[in-house]
Amino acid sequence: MIKIMAVNAGSSSLKFQLLEMPEEKLITSGIVERIGLKHSVFTIKLNGEKKEETLDIPNHGVAVNILLNKLIELKIIASYDEISGVGHRVVHGGSEISKSIVLNEKEIEYLESIVDLAPLHLGPNLIGIKAFKVILPNVKHVGVFDTAFHHTMPEESFLYAVPWDWYEKFQVRKYGFHGTSHKYVSDRCAEIMRKKPEEINVIVCHIGNGASICAVKQGRSVDTSMGFTPLDGIPMGTRSGSIDPAVVEFMMNKKNKKVKEITNLLNKQSGYIGLSGLSSDSRDLVEASKNGNHRAQLAIDVQAKRIADYIASYYVYMGGADAIIFTAGIGENAKSTRSNIIERVSILGAKIDEERNDCRGVERLISTDDSKLKVYLIPTNEEVMIARDTLSLL
Ligand code: ADP
Repeated sequence: MIKIMAVNAGSSSLKFQLLEMPEEKLITSGIVERIGLKHSVFTIKLNGEKKEETLDIPNHGVAVNILLNKLIELKIIASYDEISGVGHRVVHGGSEISKSIVLNEKEIEYLESIVDLAPLHLGPNLIGIKAFKVILPNVKHVGVFDTAFHHTMPEESFLYAVPWDWYEKFQVRKYGFHGTSHKYVSDRCAEIMRKKPEEINVIVCHIGNGASICAVKQGRSVDTSMGFTPLDGIPMGTRSGSIDPAVVEFMMNKKNKKVKEITNLLNKQSGYIGLSGLSSDSRDLVEASKNGNHRAQLAIDVQAKRIADYIASYYVYMGGADAIIFTAGIGENAKSTRSNIIERVSILGAKIDEERNDCRGVERLISTDDSKLKVYLIPTNEEVMIARDTLSLL
C-alpha cells in the first residue's frame, strides 16, 4: 500500500491530506493554521472526527514535525518510512515548468529565481517544501504547479500587447492559475460523458474566493482568465479582476498613494467586498441580496456578467463547447449564482434544470435533458491530482 502526502503550504498555514494510492482513498486530512503567530491551531480529521489543538508553532519546520508525530501518535502510520512520497502544491512554475516534476536542488534553485513572479505564494510554498525535505530526506518530493496545465495556451492567448522586451526579458505574459483544478474537473467531465478528454471542449468555471475560467479544448488549456498574476480576469472575493490599467495611476494621484498600496486595494478590498461594502463571502452576499440589498446583488451580478462574457468568448474561440463545469466553493455551493450565470448564456443553448441544480457539493448534471450545451457541477479535488502526479513520478 502506497501512502502519499499532498501538501499546500501558505504563508501561515499548511494544509495536508494523506492518501492511499492508487486507490485515491483519503486516510486523513488537516490543517495547521497561524504558523508563526501565538496560539497556532492544528486540526486533523480522522474517520469523520475532527480533533483540534492549540499550540505555539513558530515555523513550518515545527509544523511538519508536529504533523508527522501526530500521524504516529494516532497510529495512522507506524513510522515516517510509510510515506512514499510528498506532493507539494506550487503556485508558479514560471515559463519553464510545464508539468509536475521531482523537486531536487536544481529545481528548487529555479523556483527561487522566480519567486518575484508570485512572492506571496511561492515564497511560502518553498518554505514548506524545504521543511518537508529536511524531515523526510529519503522520499521523493514532487511539485505540482498551478500554472503547468496552461502551458498549452498558444501565443495569441498568453501574450500581452505590450513592448516586446517586457515578455522577452522579464517574462511578462499570461500564466494562468488553478491549473490542477481545471485539469481535474475537465478530465472528470470527460469520464462522466464517457468520452476521452481529446474528444470534448469544456469551459471550466472555478469560482471560489479566488476564481478563474478556463477554455479546455480537447483536454488542453487554450485560454484562461487569470493572467500574469491571480489578480486578472473576473471579480473575486476581494480581487478586482481586470480593470483599465490607467485607473492605477489615476487613483494614486487622487488618494496620494503608492503603487503598492493601490495594488493591495485591488487584491484585498475589491471584488465582492469592494462592490458590496459588506463581505467577501458569497454566503453573506446571497443572503443580503435575498433581503433586497442592492449592492450585494450588484456584486453578484457584476461577477456573473463577467463570467458569462468569458464563457461566450471561449465558446467562440474553441469553435463550440460540449459542457460548462462549475467547481470550487461558490461553483459547488451557490445554486443561485450558477443559475444567474447560465441564464446569461442561454443563447449558446445552455438551460439549467432548477430541480437538478438544487444541490451542493455533488457530482451532477444540472442542465435539462434538451440543453444543447451541458452544465455540470463537479467538485474539484486538487489533492487527488497532486497524489496522482506524485505517484507517477515515484
Ligand atoms: P479558496 O479556495 O479560493 O479560498 P473556496 O473554493 O473555498 O475558496 O471558496 C470559498 C467561497 O465559497 C466563499 O465565498 C464561500 O462563501 C463560498 N461558499 C461556501 N459555501 C457556500 C454556500 N453554501 N453558498 C454560497 N457560497 C458558499
